[in-house]
Amino acid sequence: MPFSLYADTNTGRFGGLEGRLWFMALLAVGCTLLLATATISASIEALRKAHAGAENMRQFTAIFDAANLISAERGPANRLMTASEADRSEARLKWHNFVGSTDAALAELERRDVPDEMIDDVRARLAAARGLITAIGQQRGQVRRYEEIHAAIDTMFAARDSYRRIIEWQSGEILRRDPELATIVVQGIAFSDLREYAGRLGSYLIAPMVAGTAITQQDMAASSTARGRLLEVWDLVGPRSALPVSDAIRVKRQEVEDTFMRQGLELIDEQMEIGSRSGRFSLDGGNLTQRYVALMQPLGEVRNIYLSEIVSEFETREQDALWALYSNGLTTAVLLTLVLGLVAAVQIYILRPLLRGAQAVIALADERPADLVSSPGEVREIRRLYGAIGILSQRLGERALLTRQLEILATTDGLTGLLNRRALEENTALAVDAAKYLILLDIDHFKSINDRYGHPFGDTVLRTVADLMRHSAGASGYVARFGGEEFAILLEKGSLAEAACMARKLRKAIGNCPLTAPDGERLTVTASFGVAAGADLTWNDILNHADAALYRAKDAGRNRVRVFRAPV
Ligand code: GH3
Ligand code: MG
Ligand code: MG
Repeated sequence: MPFSLYADTNTGRFGGLEGRLWFMALLAVGCTLLLATATISASIEALRKAHAGAENMRQFTAIFDAANLISAERGPANRLMTASEADRSEARLKWHNFVGSTDAALAELERRDVPDEMIDDVRARLAAARGLITAIGQQRGQVRRYEEIHAAIDTMFAARDSYRRIIEWQSGEILRRDPELATIVVQGIAFSDLREYAGRLGSYLIAPMVAGTAITQQDMAASSTARGRLLEVWDLVGPRSALPVSDAIRVKRQEVEDTFMRQGLELIDEQMEIGSRSGRFSLDGGNLTQRYVALMQPLGEVRNIYLSEIVSEFETREQDALWALYSNGLTTAVLLTLVLGLVAAVQIYILRPLLRGAQAVIALADERPADLVSSPGEVREIRRLYGAIGILSQRLGERALLTRQLEILATTDGLTGLLNRRALEENTALAVDAAKYLILLDIDHFKSINDRYGHPFGDTVLRTVADLMRHSAGASGYVARFGGEEFAILLEKGSLAEAACMARKLRKAIGNCPLTAPDGERLTVTASFGVAAGADLTWNDILNHADAALYRAKDAGRNRVRVFRAPV
């Protein structure tokens, strides 16, 4: 295959540097995207899991909130059932507020996916208990009967017991989704149970206190069971527990230990002790409820702290997962920007300057100006390349100038500045079929001018005749010095008559041109002319014809014009 400056013989898609660059960039972008897909989808999965975890914990909290409200509703219910007529309306209002909160919490569970039949069961039992409590709350103090109050409290217990199903169902759901949450679930149930058992201990006393009767054997046993359970659960989550807890819980737990576990249980034990023997309690139901509820306060608080801590821990995890997703996305974007930026930089700083360099070299080869300006922002190697192209351009320029000078030397006559014979003949050879008129001119007796006035003056005469010829021919013909004192004018337009006319005018002009010899003598020179024409003739034939005409002019006595006419 012949070498070509212009052709890029490597036409493969990724043959060039740019193609390879794009290939590598696409490869890098592909790898980045692959990596990003893997990490981002892992992040999305982690976020989804964290979100589900947080949602689980929010639901878990909602479940225990409702449980707590059902337990706590017994407090104002007991107050209402034990209140004097004067305090009754205030107690009723307070109880109604609690009832409203419990109902709102249950409605909230309904919005979450807690099975309806479980909620309905709890609602039915609560409604039954509330009916009994409402009826008791309307009776006058001395009419209130032990059995009725006892039944109302038992029904509240039953409502809370039926709520256990919801807690168990929810715990099961959480553990099914994430078995690692077992400790959290167990602790949550324990904190909730503590509050429930503590409440029950107080409630067992209410009916006997209101009725002024001793506590039944059955209630003594139930109370003792609840007390035992409470202590067991306290072992699990209290200060003796091995489970890790936060400082806030540790402090609150100690408060429970110091208030409820001592004073609260003492209060219950003291009244139980009295109630085991007679109905002559040292406190009435209202006072007991008021004091006992206050002592139970830290129990509810430790449970609340625990639940809010786990929710916020899971929300932090959710937030962390979201940040991880953002940072993965950002890292991907930065990597992609870097790769594309790199490609753009290579294109701007290397490829485009290289192509400009190539175009400059092609321009130089075509003898056009290279037009390559190096900017200070260009990389060092490109500046060097441009520098080298600049040197090449300079050398080529010098060479072109030299060639031009050589051409001029080769085609012009040094003395007169006219074309030389070879240049004229080469010019003529180019236009074989064109019209051609040749005027040959020979200065008369030139040898004697040389001899008489010297060679330099002879040269002056030659230059003067050359100027006259140039002037006479103008732009319409080629003027050449044929050699010695012989000149020629080649015309490519006009007619033979016009050529002859030009010769005649030139003859006159030469003859009329005054010359001053070195010795001050004024003299004129003359010249003889031969004119010939022929579009279809060869150069040699025209030359011979003009020469023959010139010979005739000399022969006829010189200083005249002869036109060649073909013999008839
Ligand atoms: P004719 O009228 O027959 O043409 O006679 P002529 O003397 O002009 O012709 P000839 O051929 O005998 O002489 C030409 C002379 O021109 C001879 C040569 O010395 C002279 N000559 C040739 N070239 C140059 C030149 O470059 N400078 C000078 N000064 N003389 C030249
Ligand atoms: Mg002569
Ligand atoms: Mg001659």
